[in-house]
Amino acid sequence: MIVLNQKPFPNEHVFSWLLRNYFLSGAANFLCFQKQINIDATKLYANQVFGSSYEATIQILDNRQKLISNHTTALLWQVSVGELAHGNSPALDSFEHMNEQQFFGHDTSWHACQHCIEEDMERYGVSYWHAAHQYPSVFTCFKHLRPLLFAKEPVKNIYAEVLPQNVTTWESVAPEASQVLIGWQCYLKEVIDQCHTNISRIAQIKPKIIKYFNVDKYKQREKKLYCERLNLEFEQAMGNQLLQYLFRDYSRENSRGKTNVFSILFINHYKPNGVRNPVYWLAVAYWLKISKQLDVLS
Ligand SMILES: [Zn+2]
Repeated sequence: MIVLNQKPFPNEHVFSWLLRNYFLSGAANFLCFQKQINIDATKLYANQVFGSSYEATIQILDNRQKLISNHTTALLWQVSVGELAHGNSPALDSFEHMNEQQFFGHDTSWHACQHCIEEDMERYGVSYWHAAHQYPSVFTCFKHLRPLLFAKEPVKNIYAEVLPQNVTTWESVAPEASQVLIGWQCYLKEVIDQCHTNISRIAQIKPKIIKYFNVDKYKQREKKLYCERLNLEFEQAMGNQLLQYLFRDYSRENSRGKTNVFSILFINHYKPNGVRNPVYWLAVAYWLKISKQLDVLS
C-alpha cells in the first residue's frame, strides 16, 4: 500500500508532485507506482489539461478548486471552454486536446527558472516543476522576473522521470525578448491574473470574439474567403516576429499549410469535445486590442 503523504510544494504542477511521490515510494518503476494508486498517466506534458489521467490525479488530492488554480495551467484554458474550477464545473475528462503541439513556434516542453530551482533546492532539498512556468508562450518567471528556460534536450514528457535538477543544459524560451514579445507576454499576464480574479471576464472572451466576427452569417464557401481576408489583416497587424513566435508555420520557408487562426477557430471543428489551445483565442483578442481598440477583457 502506497501512502501519499507528501503534499504538493507551493505552485508545484500536479504531474511534478506525482513524479516526486513515485521517487519517494520505493516502487520498482513509475508505472507500478501509478497502478497502486489506480492511475494510468503516461502523457505528462506541460500543457496537458484534459483527459482521464489528469482528472484522476486531481481526484487523489483534496480541494479540487485550489489544485486547479495553483497547481495546473488549466485556468488559462477557461478562455477556450468556460469555467473549470468551481463546484459545478465539468470534469477535465469531458474535453479532449486537439493534436496541435507541433503547430506552435514557441517551445512547448517543461520550463523552469534558475532562481526558483536554487530557492527550492535550498528550502526543500529538491527542485520541482512549477505550474506558473508552463503557461503556453510565457517566457518570464513572474516571481523573479528572470527568463524561463527549457532543457537543451527538451523534456516533453516527465514520464521520463526528470526534475529540473536533473537537467544539465538549459536554453532560454525567448532568447531575444523584444518589445513585441514583451507586449504579448504582458497581455497574457493580464489574462492569467484575471483567470484568478475575474472568471466572468475570461469566460466572455470566446463568445465576444465569435459575436464580433459573426462568421455564421456566411455560407460555407464565403466563410472560407472571409477567414482568409481576416487572416491577412491579422498577419499585417501582428507582424512576423510575433507570428513566428506563436505559430511554427510562419518560420517555414514555403507557406504550404499556413496557419489561419480564423479558420481554425470558426470553421474546422472536427470533434465536439476537441478543445483548441487558448493561444489561438488570445492571439485574436490581442489583435482586436492593438488594432481595433476592442478590449474583450473589459
Ligand atoms: Zn523564478
